[in-house]
Amino acid sequence: MSDATTLEQDATELLRTMIRNACVNDGTPASGQEVRNADALEAYFAGTGLAFERYTAGPGRVSLITRIEGTDRNAPTLLLMGHTDVVPANASGWSRDPFSGDLEDGIVWGRGATDMLHITATMAVAVRRLAKSGWKPKGTLIYLGVADEEAGGTYGAKFLVDQHWDAVKADYVITESGGVPIPAPDGIKLPVTVAEKGINWRRLVVKGTPGHGSMPFRTDNALVTAAEVVRRVGTYQPKAKILDEWRRYVNEIGLPPELTAALTDPDRVLEAVRTLEPLGMARLAHACTHTTFSPNVVHGGSKINVVPDRVAIEVDVRALPGVSPLDVDAMLKEALGDLASRVDIEAPRSQDGTRTPLEGALVDAMGRVTQAIVPGSKLIPRLTSGGTDARYFRFKNVPSYGFALHSRRIPYTQYPLMFHGNDERIDTESLTLSATMWEALCRDFLG
Ligand SMILES: [Zn+2]
Repeated sequence: MSDATTLEQDATELLRTMIRNACVNDGTPASGQEVRNADALEAYFAGTGLAFERYTAGPGRVSLITRIEGTDRNAPTLLLMGHTDVVPANASGWSRDPFSGDLEDGIVWGRGATDMLHITATMAVAVRRLAKSGWKPKGTLIYLGVADEEAGGTYGAKFLVDQHWDAVKADYVITESGGVPIPAPDGIKLPVTVAEKGINWRRLVVKGTPGHGSMPFRTDNALVTAAEVVRRVGTYQPKAKILDEWRRYVNEIGLPPELTAALTDPDRVLEAVRTLEPLGMARLAHACTHTTFSPNVVHGGSKINVVPDRVAIEVDVRALPGVSPLDVDAMLKEALGDLASRVDIEAPRSQDGTRTPLEGALVDAMGRVTQAIVPGSKLIPRLTSGGTDARYFRFKNVPSYGFALHSRRIPYTQYPLMFHGNDERIDTESLTLSATMWEALCRDFLG
């Protein structure tokens, strides 16, 4: 069996095992049970001589670390970090059982196939091959299979950074996601996620005065006020802001010049996305150029014959890097206008967005390695509207990137639909490409 065949089979089988382990994280502390994937990873590394550390943030919430120590104290440390949990899946929307790990015609199906077990698995394949080859790098390589990314990292990355910093301390971090090739007229572009928006959750508590439901005239009904609050917040559009990452991304992906100009102009982008197709691209372009406000939950009222005096509206706010949590509150007050005095704003979560420049020694190595595998390709920066564990390392000023390497079998326009969506899947050629790239990158960068 050729080396490439072994690599692909290794990565494919590890990925299928991790999908079947179904470490489904629904946000409750007892969910996830990432211990199953920690066990699978440890079993996969068996016989390599690698030592393991387990960090347990709660029952079953296990993160696994293994490392290959460098010989040169002055050489950099690289942390390869993959989460081991997945979000829930509703089987009724899938053409396959989401937790079967089905393999057919070179496609692995299942929850986590793209977010992000394929990266977690291919990083492990590379680390195992490096260890078995007797590789003695100058710099240190750390592999982390981390729990609880899908619920914000309380039992995973945040726990490790806050309480076990020595175990995960690194000079550079790579995690999800990127490297889905975009075919532009002047060559293949490989996006590297270098920035993400700040997650700011707000609870808007609307006050009223209780009364009898049989006599609603001139009452102060909190639900009626809340309806107007939802309308104002839901239609609020703060002014667009064009970040350098977005400008460079749009300039590189080969859109028609007029569209490129509109999507990078703060005065025209909102108008442009109103009619832009496909819809996924319009949502992405809007999210990458605006701080967004999505009222998603409402709790209120107690009984059908009681005029409610309290309604709580939960708003998912995603702030562009550079927009602070205080700026978010000011925007909400602007959106509320003359209703601001009737609303208390609570802040269950406040985080700044984060950015790492697409430059430096690791990026140079990524460029060398990817060009050898995909000739003529170019790395471009990408801003993500979602959150990843990279932010906890960027908060510590550690340059952190989201990357992998994909084939062109599944078009890049499909990927946004698969994240947390139906029919998540990955082709096995992409697994080979990623595993090959991780191994070559470690050898190039850590020496
Ligand atoms: Zn993910």
